[in-house]
Amino acid sequence: MHRLKLSKRDDAPLTILCIGAHSDDIEIGCGATVLRLLHEHPAAQCHWIVLSASGSEERAEEARSSARAFLGSHAASIEVKSFRDAYFPFHGEELKNDFEEFKRRLQPDIVLTHYKGDLHQDHKIVADLTWNTYRNHMILEYEIPKYDGGLGSPNFFVPVDESLVEAKIERLMTHFGSQRSRQWFTPETFRGLMRIRGLECNSPSGFAEAYYCRKCII
Ligand SMILES: [Zn+2]
Repeated sequence: MHRLKLSKRDDAPLTILCIGAHSDDIEIGCGATVLRLLHEHPAAQCHWIVLSASGSEERAEEARSSARAFLGSHAASIEVKSFRDAYFPFHGEELKNDFEEFKRRLQPDIVLTHYKGDLHQDHKIVADLTWNTYRNHMILEYEIPKYDGGLGSPNFFVPVDESLVEAKIERLMTHFGSQRSRQWFTPETFRGLMRIRGLECNSPSGFAEAYYCRKCII
């Protein structure tokens, strides 16, 4: 069996774009996948965009320090913006302008973003804008467990070693001090969802992250 190539060009390193509405979304949704891709593609470069840090410098710095911990030398850019948490639908024009600017500047091989069916209004609009912006790209939509529910049946799985599961959880718990008081923000939440997705794809380690893939061209 041939390994699928994710980079469009033979001579170019893999370029990844991660987009998250809030400061910890990327890590929760696709942190272990990012770690796996960077491990398997030593020259890979990753752009990391967080749209809201709740107007607090503490949360913005948490987002930056976590991104640095996940990406290390693979960090092509880390951007933390200041859209207001829970108000994204009311900032549609400014968000759209930012995504247009991303398009002019960033042409990734793979885009990791929110799920179009996510029940959180900020997540959903980010997913919609990602699809509006990147018309000829591989887009995978990650999932975020939440009070609203809405977890579904994703159709694209990335098995990950247990060491990457623990690395993801360790970084989440280390870098997001402001979230640790939330009753859901626990290693069990993150490990449990990855264990279920691992079960659903027969992951050798038992763990996986899962995505919604609407269109895939190989
Ligand atoms: Zn979020």
